[in-house]
Amino acid sequence: MANKTRVAVLGLGIMGTGMAGRLLQNNFDVTVYNRTPPKAQALQSLGARVAQTPAEAAKGAEFVISMLADDVAARAVWLGSNGALAGAAPGTVLIECSTISVQWARELASAAKTRGCEMLDAPVTGTKPHAAAGELLFLVGGSEETLARARPVLAAMSRDIIHLGPAGSGALVKLINNFVSGVQAVALAEALALIERTDLDTAKALAVLTEGAPGSPLVKTLSKRMTASDFAPNFLLKLMTKDLKYAIGEAKSHSMSLATATAAVDVMEKAISAGLGDKDFSAVIELLRR
Ligand code: NAP
Repeated sequence: MANKTRVAVLGLGIMGTGMAGRLLQNNFDVTVYNRTPPKAQALQSLGARVAQTPAEAAKGAEFVISMLADDVAARAVWLGSNGALAGAAPGTVLIECSTISVQWARELASAAKTRGCEMLDAPVTGTKPHAAAGELLFLVGGSEETLARARPVLAAMSRDIIHLGPAGSGALVKLINNFVSGVQAVALAEALALIERTDLDTAKALAVLTEGAPGSPLVKTLSKRMTASDFAPNFLLKLMTKDLKYAIGEAKSHSMSLATATAAVDVMEKAISAGLGDKDFSAVIELLRR
């Protein structure tokens, strides 16, 4: 029997757990690491090895995937004490799937090169059920050759893979994607909160939006969560807010301000101050209902 490909997964939150599960289902040899160890137990019972540090997880891995909250988390796990990069052998492919700033994606690519490793920034679209079902869309920055090596690993977790250009390109498109998504979410929340304050039939009025021109797939999904007040986390409000802030920062580096993103962040930050940050981002409507 051919040797299984060895993959390390760093970060077992909503997304990382589903992604590691898919790799196990697809017969990869999986080692996992999470800052809070109990989150690894379910994957351990499915056959994953559990490492105590990121460096230990990366040791012997051919591919090291990370799916962490933000730049701070990713920097700690890749470059901190007992960080994954120190444990990775030259030639290892690093796949950074977290939604991070473009600047940090490029910095990690350069740190990887110094160590003789290759790196892809490969953030994803799709959410909790897509991660669990292997239906993510990878937005990839990095070289064609590195992507060709990583393709079988990414394929096990995805419905498609889009190569967008050199290092940082995946991160950049992901931030632009979430900038538009976050603005839509806040606009929908304001629209629905306004409808609810009037004498309109909420379902009828909302259907005009969801079935009409503003009815994007995201608006359709979020309108169901908002009307049902079902804020079980698929994607945390605090993480969506982070993404818009990174997008604003990136635009600034191109001498541009994102006025709609800035307005959306203002609403989101008020919602976080009101205690909604660890709920699904659709919970932003709760602020406007109060
Ligand atoms: P999550 O459930 O909140 O998980 C976050 C992960 O980051 C956990 O493993 C957490 O470890 C770790 N972490 C946070 N701060 C850390 C630190 N300082 N040091 C080490 N580890 C740290 O988030 P998620 O929804 O899986 O999202 C992960 C990434 O994917 C984010 O960048 C997010 O923006 C992106 N994303 C999410 C979705 C979605 O729908 N959920 C979709 C696309 C992209 P602990 O368990 O120890 O806290």
